[in-house]
Amino acid sequence: MRWENLTADTAEGPARDAALFGADAVTTRTFDTPEFRGITFHEIRARSIVNRVPGASRMPFEWTVNPYRGCSHACVYCFARKTHSYLDLDTGLGFDSQIVVKVNAPDLLRRQLASRRWHGEHIAMGTNVDCYQRAEGRYRLMPGIIAALRDHANPFSILTKGTLILRDLDLLKQASEVTDVGISVSVGFTDTGLWRTVEPGTPAPERRLDVVRTLTDHGMDCGVLMAPVIPFLGDHPAQLRATVRAIAASGATSVTPLVLHLRPGAREWFMAWLEHHHPHLVRRYERLYAEGAYAPKWYQRRITRQVHELAQEYGIGPKRAGMPRRVTEPEPVPAAAPGPTQLTLL
Ligand code: SF4
Repeated sequence: MRWENLTADTAEGPARDAALFGADAVTTRTFDTPEFRGITFHEIRARSIVNRVPGASRMPFEWTVNPYRGCSHACVYCFARKTHSYLDLDTGLGFDSQIVVKVNAPDLLRRQLASRRWHGEHIAMGTNVDCYQRAEGRYRLMPGIIAALRDHANPFSILTKGTLILRDLDLLKQASEVTDVGISVSVGFTDTGLWRTVEPGTPAPERRLDVVRTLTDHGMDCGVLMAPVIPFLGDHPAQLRATVRAIAASGATSVTPLVLHLRPGAREWFMAWLEHHHPHLVRRYERLYAEGAYAPKWYQRRITRQVHELAQEYGIGPKRAGMPRRVTEPEPVPAAAPGPTQLTLL
């Protein structure tokens, strides 16, 4: 693998990623429990944990922390898949089952936050891969990370599909008392048949909405990133309505729709899945995504309008009395892949 050689690649992704790892710092482990069967963990000691987002001007955040690489949530459409190729790892099943764990992430973050060169900027987590994927249940990196952010009163946000975030509820509440903490849960649809095949390693959509409910019940605002809306499989008006209704019932303080995009790495894997499960849709997808990674603007606008209308109808917004209800505008979708650290459809 890439970090075993520490090659002098100058390409943007590989060079930076290789620089994260020490040559003698990789330990490979497997665990013979049902939860982790078939998964290999590569424990590494990273040299840096706060990453600047390439092309940050197009993204809603500039700094990220990602304690893991690869994601056992195994979403077929995940466009972080491509980043596994920077480590010479497979972007298909390898991305789902070869998980890189930065075991020193909490200590490293605490040191970096204390540095005079750090000025307390917002840090986004869950933007590349899910920091509350199954591995977190064993490695428990997030409590140390949140504690470090809390102790430095450093603003941060977390985007996740993992119910494990509730384990850290007390820490999140403590952090929110001293700094801005943004939490979003990703639920693109509530169709269980679609969920089982396209997001096979994730908690069910209803369980994720239970997370939203628990967080809001504890006084923490929690938005829902309604992503991805999957063309022809999850975009029927009745499906959109069911999803927005369930999001509203969870007490979410905002909903942000985002249509599926298919960048290289994710596109091949998704299209192979489509060919297997829905072969009659292959031609329609080729037409819809003929121009590149994104569905046409007219399609994106139509979905956004429908979701916003439904959100208004169901009254999604903050619960606080006297406050106007809020439906967020979708984040601008970057025109091109910004590089190895990027917003996934968590
Ligand atoms: S989309 Fe998010 S949860 Fe799904 S595999 Fe990718 S990083 Fe994991």
